[in-house]
Amino acid sequence: MNNELASFIRDVPDFPKKGIIFKDITTLLKNPEALTKTVSILYELAKDKGISKVAGIESRGFIFGGLLAEKLNAGFVPIRKPNKLPAEKISETYALEYGTDTIEIHKDAIIPGDRVLLHDDLLATGGTAQAAVKLIEKLGGEVVQISFLIELVFLNGRELLKGYDIQSLIKYDAE
Ligand code: AMP
Repeated sequence: MNNELASFIRDVPDFPKKGIIFKDITTLLKNPEALTKTVSILYELAKDKGISKVAGIESRGFIFGGLLAEKLNAGFVPIRKPNKLPAEKISETYALEYGTDTIEIHKDAIIPGDRVLLHDDLLATGGTAQAAVKLIEKLGGEVVQISFLIELVFLNGRELLKGYDIQSLIKYDAE
């Protein structure tokens, strides 16, 4: 657990609905030292992996995903919610507690042989990241690391992502 960074995360109870404690990263993002430190730790974890593309999950995964891509000399690929990407794309639908959700990627965003770092702000149940992994692999990319700022360990998201190099900077063992 990176306690120094953890102190920049704001808990917002009952957002976006009752019973959820939202982990707000805007309080970390607005602090220049915390922002630099976070990028630098994520970069150190990924720099020797020969990464050619960083894929970020909408929308908070775009922030550090973009910063990391630039530092790694890699390209950046957005994985987006439905009907946002303009060109030819593929979709993946996954289960939520109530209902389903879908994410999409441009067909030409990844080429076979790409070594991909997948990034999102937070790992909860792992459903979103698992769907993103499927999209990348369908296009022939190899997911060489999956990184998160925050991991809600008690939700066991790692189970769904077994076999992958999973990194997280701030871990919560309980709500
Ligand atoms: P999951 O698919 O359950 O791993 O959920 C991960 C996605 O939902 C990430 O894109 C997160 O941004 C978002 N998310 C889930 N739970 C929270 C939470 N408690 N606080 C902030 N974001 C969350």
